[in-house]
Amino acid sequence: MIVAIDGPAGAGKSTVAKILARKLGFLYIDTGAMYRAITLKALENNTDIHDENKVYELALNSRIDLCNNADGSLSVFLDNRDVSSDIRQVRITRFVSDVSKIKGVRQVLVKMQREMGQKGDCVLEGRDIGTVVFPDAQKKFFIDASAQVRASRRFKELKGLNQDVAEDEVAKDLSNRDKIDSSRKVSPLRKAIDAIYIDTTELSIEQVVEKMLKLCK
Ligand code: C5P
Repeated sequence: MIVAIDGPAGAGKSTVAKILARKLGFLYIDTGAMYRAITLKALENNTDIHDENKVYELALNSRIDLCNNADGSLSVFLDNRDVSSDIRQVRITRFVSDVSKIKGVRQVLVKMQREMGQKGDCVLEGRDIGTVVFPDAQKKFFIDASAQVRASRRFKELKGLNQDVAEDEVAKDLSNRDKIDSSRKVSPLRKAIDAIYIDTTELSIEQVVEKMLKLCK
């Protein structure tokens, strides 16, 4: 069974997707982490991220592995190197939407995601899972929240990771990413027609997971 979870940045997708996958005994696949890994590689290699062919080539020659750990966390490996924390840096977040709008990069990563998803039951989380990666997913969710709540949640999360950022900068970054992600030509962020819309603005994590679990069972 495939569970597809899409939605804008900071809506709480990762948190609920991880818990839901654990409760269902499914594999958890964070597709945003894969776009972040390619962004990291491009920045480390001093590749011009606006040179679409170069970034495409780089993605084509990359290996990305996602590992579900026993403690519920996810480890991300890029070319066999653990980049789990590097990909969460502010500089990666700043450029990831420019990298993810490149058609070739999306082709490479969508292929990887389909291969990962075909291995068994899984929960995939991203922006285009229900619309493009697995349009036939048995269950689709679109997780949303007000812009203010999303910014405040993301700010708290970054503070927890000891990242020194201002809340208004986080809000600006979210709105900028949402704009690029929703307006890009290839696979823009959209709710699939058959996805269940959940507004988490007024809901706790437990309430959202409970709702989703009921709908999956
Ligand atoms: O989920 P997360 O915020 O880590 O995703 C980082 C970025 O990766 C998004 O802002 C978006 O540009 C890109 N992304 C995407 N398609 C996906 C998952 C993420 O374009 N399926």
